[in-house]
Amino acid sequence: MVQNPHDQDAVPGGRGQRLVFGFGALLILAALFAGIVINANHAAAERREAQAWHVHTLEVLLTTATMKSAVNMSIRGERGYLITGDPKFLQPYRAGAREAPVALERIAAQTRDNPAQRRNIAALRAQAAIFYKVMERAIALRRAGDEAGAVALVRSGAGIGATDAVLAALGTIEAEEQRLLAVRSAANERANDATQTSYYALVVAGLVLLLVAAAVGVSTAKAQKRVRIIAEQLRLSATTDELTGLPNRRFFMHSLDIEVARARRSGAPLSVAVADVDHFKRVNDRYGHGGGDEVLRALARIFEAIMRTGDVVGRLGGEEFAILMPDTDEIQARIACERLRGAIAGREIRLPSGEKIAITLSTGIALLVPGDDRDKLVKRADNALYSAKEGGRNQVRLAA
Ligand code: GH3
Ligand code: MG
Ligand code: MG
Repeated sequence: MVQNPHDQDAVPGGRGQRLVFGFGALLILAALFAGIVINANHAAAERREAQAWHVHTLEVLLTTATMKSAVNMSIRGERGYLITGDPKFLQPYRAGAREAPVALERIAAQTRDNPAQRRNIAALRAQAAIFYKVMERAIALRRAGDEAGAVALVRSGAGIGATDAVLAALGTIEAEEQRLLAVRSAANERANDATQTSYYALVVAGLVLLLVAAAVGVSTAKAQKRVRIIAEQLRLSATTDELTGLPNRRFFMHSLDIEVARARRSGAPLSVAVADVDHFKRVNDRYGHGGGDEVLRALARIFEAIMRTGDVVGRLGGEEFAILMPDTDEIQARIACERLRGAIAGREIRLPSGEKIAITLSTGIALLVPGDDRDKLVKRADNALYSAKEGGRNQVRLAA
């Protein structure tokens, strides 16, 4: 009948274990999440670097193209001048000759960190010097009127060779940059993929993390609720009589201590009644222990219904009840207890089985007097109860 609160501890124990698992899972997921975040950051940094390289390679290719067009401009100008002798062709020649070394130095600066390109630049520089030397010599011959000598020089191996060598050196530099561009594009692609994968993983892990956190939260809330319920059950079981729900002997005596002290301070009257069911053994004998229990429960409800709100009704044990009546003198207490006696004697208690039982109650009342303490007060009420039994039961007696 009585629930042992310790039996229920087994349940929160299981929950506690699940909670520990939940927190463990949460920790592992959080670590995983952090790992993915770090990985995503790393991938993003790689991607930024790949993009920077990509842009750099394109810049180098652009500068190479600039130099190529400067060289071509010089060639066109020189040819025009050699063929026509018109000095206006020297203009594009000079412009190309000015621009070419500027572009060359820019390429050199842009590819400084690449040893292969440094070698290629050195070769280009040497070839460009030779190329412009041949050009200058041809122009000088033409200017001196030696048209045939100038054309012969251009047509000679020196002229063609120098031009081809410059363009070839530029081509080598371009090829190297194209190669680097391909490598870096591939790296860029990979970094992009890695970043995307990381972000997907991040979203999935985030969702799982949220789900687990929610589950742990619900679990924690449930565990906390159970702890509260158990604490409440323990508190009640310490103060309540399980059969009737009335205050138990301990709580009744505690309340009596408080009321005795209060009555002493204020001088207000305080009465205590002790009531015992008459011939209760017969009830048990006839209707069984269960029937007796039903009677005790029904009596408790009658006590509560008839006594005032400020009164405390408790079950001292067995079929013995006690009533604490603050601000009540013995005459008022007697009236209240007579009402209770009459109410119980005047009706039959109905068992769930349908059987009806007539019950009577003997009651002893004691009023707090100077020199009383709690135990003396209860003892005098007990004595009055004894005399009520002696006097034939179903009656209320005042303590002498
Ligand atoms: P009287 O008080 O009129 O002298 O007679 P009585 O039969 O009531 O006397 P007694 O106090 O000797 O018997 C009380 C009986 O109450 C004995 C005990 O078995 C029974 N009892 C005590 N506690 C409980 C309980 O919780 N449930 C039930 N059903 N019976 C109880
Ligand atoms: Mg009795
Ligand atoms: Mg008794």
